[in-house]
Amino acid sequence: MSKTAQLNRSQALAAAELASHDAFAPVLSLRGVARTYQTGGGRTLDVLKGVDLDIRPGEIVGLIGPSGSGKSSLLHAAGLLEHPTAGRVAVAGVDCTELNDRARSGLRLRSIGFVYQFHHLLAEFTALDNVALPQMIGGTPKAKARARAKELLVRLGLGDRLAHQPAQLSGGEQQRVAIARALANQPRLLLADEPTGNLDTATSGAVFQSLFDLARIQGVGALIATHNMELAGFMDRVFAIQDGHLVERRR
Ligand code: ADP
Ligand code: MG
Repeated sequence: MSKTAQLNRSQALAAAELASHDAFAPVLSLRGVARTYQTGGGRTLDVLKGVDLDIRPGEIVGLIGPSGSGKSSLLHAAGLLEHPTAGRVAVAGVDCTELNDRARSGLRLRSIGFVYQFHHLLAEFTALDNVALPQMIGGTPKAKARARAKELLVRLGLGDRLAHQPAQLSGGEQQRVAIARALANQPRLLLADEPTGNLDTATSGAVFQSLFDLARIQGVGALIATHNMELAGFMDRVFAIQDGHLVERRR
């Protein structure tokens, strides 16, 4: 692609993202999303068999289901970390099906925050820098990135942990830093894959509360995989993955 064509394409993408900034446009749309894995010996495993889902700004949606039911597969497709075998994924109004890797990375950086079960923080950096760095990669000047990082960490109760490295933080604190990092670029969509899976009950309750509060304040749409049914009860909608399909659960 020529430089001009690339520029036009990114301008068109930015315009589509901007146009989708109306209060009701979904931040995530999945249509017929399927995922099949090759499992050796010519065998295949159909983990997702056609998932449809819309998540709107400010909406917090839970994803439950036993280990191996496909929660991570669905989150990775929604987070543009992997390509679904079939179906379409649209994030912030942009259909990602035909996008190249570069455009997908750009959209991911601007519009998606991802929280993993294990924090995946950078060990050599302080809490503050872990939250400031993705903003700087996105083009935010250092001073502004650090100011926003501080604001987020203070709001998450980590005001006196700014200079700590991940190894100097408890599990719950590490996950709060990971949440701050995921929200640092003001994404439209927050994805979390069992973010409290390795925390005790009281700590995971507090971490979830932080996540809910910030998500609602920022108006992001969230899709959160969890084993914890009690926490799932605080979400707006909850789906189970059953035999490759989403089934809505009464809370
Ligand atoms: P969950 O997050 O709900 O535990 P996953 O999406 O990680 O489920 O996995 C769903 C199923 O797909 C599991 O049975 C898993 O073993 C299988 N699976 C996941 N990734 C791969 C892969 N890359 N190759 C083959 N099988 C996979
Ligand atoms: Mg998983």
